[in-house]
Amino acid sequence: MADNRVVEGRMVTPEALAELIEGDDVMDAEPITDADRDCPECGGDVLEVGYMPSITEFVTGQKCQDCDWSTTDRE
Ligand SMILES: [Zn+2]
Repeated sequence: MADNRVVEGRMVTPEALAELIEGDDVMDAEPITDADRDCPECGGDVLEVGYMPSITEFVTGQKCQDCDWSTTDRE
């Protein structure tokens, strides 16, 4: 699956990545892309995924591939 990416040493789907960022279940997630930034914690590569935590909300989240740093555009 081309959409799956390695995060902290394991393969994740877009939904699994979104759930790592959200810390909760998500309804839907778009394909994972590479964010145009480095991780502020470790300098690692950052992935980006758009997802819907609920039917009325769309969030863009970013997550480091190497450590547990993540952020969203609602913060
Ligand atoms: Zn990092």
